[in-house]
Amino acid sequence: MASTLYRLHTHLWRARNQSLFPAVIGARWMSNSQSPLSDIQHGRLEINKTSTPKKLPALETLKFGHNFTDHMLVIPWNSSQGWGTPEIKPYGPLSLDPSSTVFHYAQCIFEGLKAYRNKKGKVTLFRPDLNMARMNLSAHRLALPTFNGAAFLDLIKELVRLERHWIPQENGHSLYIRPVMIGTQNTIGISPPDSALLFVICSPVGPYYPDGFKPVALHGTTEYVRAYPGGTGAYKIGANYAPGVFPQKQAAKSGYVQNLWLSGPEHNLTEVGTMNLFVVFRQEDGTLELVTPPLDGMILPGVTRDSILSLARSHAAGTLRLPNLTSKLVISERGVTMKEVCDAVQSGRLVEMFGAGTAAIVSPINRIGYQGKDIEIPVEDNGMGPVSRPIWADLVARQTGEVESDWSVVVYEE
Ligand SMILES: *Cc1c(COP(=O)(O)O)cnc(C)c1O
Repeated sequence: MASTLYRLHTHLWRARNQSLFPAVIGARWMSNSQSPLSDIQHGRLEINKTSTPKKLPALETLKFGHNFTDHMLVIPWNSSQGWGTPEIKPYGPLSLDPSSTVFHYAQCIFEGLKAYRNKKGKVTLFRPDLNMARMNLSAHRLALPTFNGAAFLDLIKELVRLERHWIPQENGHSLYIRPVMIGTQNTIGISPPDSALLFVICSPVGPYYPDGFKPVALHGTTEYVRAYPGGTGAYKIGANYAPGVFPQKQAAKSGYVQNLWLSGPEHNLTEVGTMNLFVVFRQEDGTLELVTPPLDGMILPGVTRDSILSLARSHAAGTLRLPNLTSKLVISERGVTMKEVCDAVQSGRLVEMFGAGTAAIVSPINRIGYQGKDIEIPVEDNGMGPVSRPIWADLVARQTGEVESDWSVVVYEE
């Protein structure tokens, strides 16, 4: 089973052809239609609007994930009926029995995606089908119920349309959407839950780096691991994140912003904090090699990671021109060890290193504390490097709709 899922996983995330996604997802995740249990149905949506809308927060006060909109989407599930009535209702506390399994055994998965609103009021999502597919993989891994991703996405669009006035239209601003599923069975036993709750909350956010891109210093962590072979590192499950907080606190004590998670005796680089990792090497002949670790089960298959790889590959193939990226570029999904990084820094072949994820998009790295020494990673004056900057610019233009893209999904247009 594990290997089937892994193959599906790799297949899902390697699939360049977008039309593959519905086929794969359909075959695997819409199987509920053969069972007597109900799947998520857009048509059953009930909307109960708040009578006390909040005042919109001032843009300059926005802190990532601190403000929430007026409404939330809630969909209950139980093992006898399947998915129940979806409801959009006023944002507020959930009432749960203290015996609910989520409180004891961390039966919790989540997603993170953004909605953008341009100056003309057009609202778009970025590759949300990938978040739906990934959430189903996470649900399956935790024995939580899977669902029809297209129907859930339709409901998320309803919520975003209702809350569209909350989406700041300024550059670098967006609405962060957080879907969550928790096990709510009221018994203190470890089993697949007989009830669960799927909900979505939304948070208006500003740029991750309001004062321009600030490179981060990392602690090359050898005393803790984030993920391990056969573990759950490739899934967005709540239980992966709480254990990372203490190591991050330790790293901060020594002046590092995040952990650079290393793996195995060779100290393979895996991820940065909660972001995917990219390294750029200059080869002997001047070719630049953009490298990211492969999806080996320890790496979270990021939407940003996939998008960066895809744009870089199109550029390398000549089907897309990224301005100001003139060096020959090759792209590799392969392992990178700390030894390779140290050697490349010494010989001047390390060009840049950066983290990638929905929240910050691209996060340049300028220093790694490793085995008692600091390794200086090159950064350009303006933060990002010669490969990340053009890719970032193109990616952001597709996210905001400035550049036409199949990846951008329209939610609302005036
Ligand atoms: C969410 C996440 C990422 C980035 O994924 P995106 O889909 O690009 O936001 C990378 N690593 C970890 C551990 C994550 O949780």
